[in-house]
Amino acid sequence: MARQTPMMEQYGRIKAEHQDALLLFRMGDFYETFFEDAKVASRVLGLALTTRDKGSSNPIPLAGIPHHALDSYLARLVRAGHRVAICDQVEDPKKARGLVKREVTEIVTPGTVLSSSMLDEKRGNFLLAVAPGNQCSGLARIDLSTGEFLVSEAPTQDLRREILRSEAAEIVVPEESLEDIPLDEAPGIPVTGVPEWEFGIDQARETLRSHFGVANLDGFGLAGFVEGVRAAGAALRYLKDLKKRSLSQITSVSAVLEADRMILDETTQRNLELVEPLESGLPSATLLAILDATVTPMGARLLRSWILYPLVDRAAIERRQDAVEDFLGPDRADLRDTMDGLCDMHRVVGRAATGHATPRDLAALRLSIELLPEIVRRLNGFASRAVRDMVLELPDLSDVGSMLGEAIVDNPPATLKSGGVIRAGYDDELDSVRAVAKEGKGWISRLQATERERTGIANLRVGYNKVFGYYIEVTKPNVQLVPDDYVGKQTLVNAERYVTPELKEHESRILTAEEDLTRLERELFERVRSRVAEAASRIQKAAETLASVDVLSTLAEVASENRYVRPVMTEDGAIVVEDGRHPVVERLLEREAFVPNDVRLGLEEGRILLITGPNMAGKSTYLRQAALTVIMAQMGSFVPARAASVAMVDRVFTRIGATDALARGRSTFLVEMSQTANILRNATSRSLILLDEIGRGTSTFDGLSIAWAVTEYLHDHGGIRPKTLFATHYHELTELEDVLPGLRNMNILARETGDSIAFLRKVVPGCADQSYGIEVARLAGIPEEVTVRAREVLRNLEEAQYTADAVPRLAGGDHGPLGAGEPQLHLFREPSEVERELESIDVDRMTPIDALGRLAELKEKLKRGR
Ligand code: ADP
Ligand code: MG
Repeated sequence: MARQTPMMEQYGRIKAEHQDALLLFRMGDFYETFFEDAKVASRVLGLALTTRDKGSSNPIPLAGIPHHALDSYLARLVRAGHRVAICDQVEDPKKARGLVKREVTEIVTPGTVLSSSMLDEKRGNFLLAVAPGNQCSGLARIDLSTGEFLVSEAPTQDLRREILRSEAAEIVVPEESLEDIPLDEAPGIPVTGVPEWEFGIDQARETLRSHFGVANLDGFGLAGFVEGVRAAGAALRYLKDLKKRSLSQITSVSAVLEADRMILDETTQRNLELVEPLESGLPSATLLAILDATVTPMGARLLRSWILYPLVDRAAIERRQDAVEDFLGPDRADLRDTMDGLCDMHRVVGRAATGHATPRDLAALRLSIELLPEIVRRLNGFASRAVRDMVLELPDLSDVGSMLGEAIVDNPPATLKSGGVIRAGYDDELDSVRAVAKEGKGWISRLQATERERTGIANLRVGYNKVFGYYIEVTKPNVQLVPDDYVGKQTLVNAERYVTPELKEHESRILTAEEDLTRLERELFERVRSRVAEAASRIQKAAETLASVDVLSTLAEVASENRYVRPVMTEDGAIVVEDGRHPVVERLLEREAFVPNDVRLGLEEGRILLITGPNMAGKSTYLRQAALTVIMAQMGSFVPARAASVAMVDRVFTRIGATDALARGRSTFLVEMSQTANILRNATSRSLILLDEIGRGTSTFDGLSIAWAVTEYLHDHGGIRPKTLFATHYHELTELEDVLPGLRNMNILARETGDSIAFLRKVVPGCADQSYGIEVARLAGIPEEVTVRAREVLRNLEEAQYTADAVPRLAGGDHGPLGAGEPQLHLFREPSEVERELESIDVDRMTPIDALGRLAELKEKLKRGR
């Protein structure tokens, strides 16, 4: 092996400590990568791969990126799933004796990015730490970009659901549990294992106590948490290790109680297109897209989390509703216009605390702070208690605003590099150094004129280059006119360059002044930035309150634009929506084209609605509309209806259509059944369930039987009575109405008009006409012979619907309907041999003796058969 240079030795040492990361090694104006890292970087970033030590037997692969472009390259590396360690020169290379000192100053991962170019301003960027426990597990989410820090606990069996719904950008778990974390179906979220002890409870308590400077954690509502605290401590520790900083933007941690939020699992989030459209869907076809008229980035993020985590506490929901109602008043527009000028205060503070805030960030923060008095004045125009409380919660930031106003110029450059960030008059030393620099430059700019006059050389020129500094240039023919004090510096083809002692002196003054300027401006800026960081908790409080104001006034805006009404919330009882609409579909349709429908889900009667109707009738839309209305109501929004009264639900379950699970290699039917199993196991009397076509993935009889039994189970199993909307094309299921008192048949009207079908979209009690499908077939041009025969076959089938005692066939059975506790069902019992024989007997052609003989025979058979 060839001997390594001292620098490569330094590299090797640092790299050894960061094996799991791609190391960007600062050298002059570049961040270099070496060896394997260089190969990865060149592939991901499309950089030229070169080599160092070309001549040697062991050339080192090398790829570099210019330091000023770090942000955009970093974004691409992180997005490609890499951890990136940034190794900087931590002393001034000019002052370094020997090798420049270098250290890793930050490690960037998907859950810990900070620069604005890497973040989506409309959504939070969460690192999630998971502490699995036996019964219950802890989850902690930190958004480093804003400082938001939330802790919760969930039953371990629901861990997967909680992880998936958390929208984490990165997950940290104890190394030993990597295998146990049920993440098989969360591809794309990087999971990092850390040593188990980092999740230890004592360790975690200590990390949190020392970070927040408190004696105990009760003040944060964490008193009853163990697993949650373990997760919180580990999350914080992980971030500190990565960022090598104190993370002063994390000023608080809040406990989120499972019981305070509606549970929406990831399947339901997806099926209802709450924040993301289904794969085939329009990007604008989400509830978020319809509701998002927010005017600030922090408002947009808050709205998203309100949608994903609706409330279950009536008082809290009503407080939001009160504010929305108040904001319906005429002064909303002015308020929102003013708020439109706010910057992303939450993230600016995050960047200030981690040393990433730019001059423009701070200038924008100042403008936002200066808007606060006007916002408060406008808020005071609203009367409700809810709005008043928000005004009281807005902290006074005028001190920070005036500090920024005094320190930073109005329109600072994007970076500190070229100076001009700190306002004149802010710092005496800076002012005088600036004066020196300016004076020196003035002297030089006058020099050309004075020297031309003094020497009589008309084309004498004063110039500057990096190597020689300032010089006086005289063309060859005029050289004999040069005065004695000119000192030769450089000879060109047709000119000579000189300096004078005086020029040298001014030059060195300018250079020193400029160096001082850069250093001073940086120091002053950093001081200002850290004063902003010191005010982090106040600024965050303001940002949070403003985010609420934004979301609540947005909900008012959307409500007034779309004619939403305030729903009445009740603890239990019925969900009644009069003339309800689907918030998204109504917006996608032409004006007024949406047909409103009532939803009445009772506590007793009509707690299961069985909805039939032809394809395209609007079944799925009706189901989703009901669920979206409930979710909107519980997030505090008004709802698309003429009137609504909503008994709050604890969860919304959905089992809807084919998902992309097929692509993951599981059969649709299996997925369908496991989703159904989840519903049957976890639904409570306060749950809302949507079943859109279950049993479709298997043979008709299987499917129908399963659908039937599932419905019976949901009707009353163990006294649990969830509210259920069930759309089905199994017409046979409508018979259930005869045996399940809580079930009602609903049917979506459609009518044949001439040679087309008119979908009336009206949901009415009763069941659909079964022969409708054949009508559609006829209209679609299926030959008459076929449709006539189909009608015949249908009639035969229908005739067999009832048993001889006029009991509906499916509703019968040896065990009676399910739900009363009997777990088995034999819907399609094969007829026994005796029965078959009985059926084949032609009584008309039998003598009485024959008959007696056959009877004895059959009795014998029955005995043997038992
Ligand atoms: P199904 O599930 O019965 O096959 P969908 O719910 O998918 O039917 O509805 C089919 C289409 O009908 C939807 O794309 C929607 O545009 C339209 N639609 C559904 N309900 C309504 C309604 N109440 N008013 C107007 N159009 C509707
Ligand atoms: Mg459908």
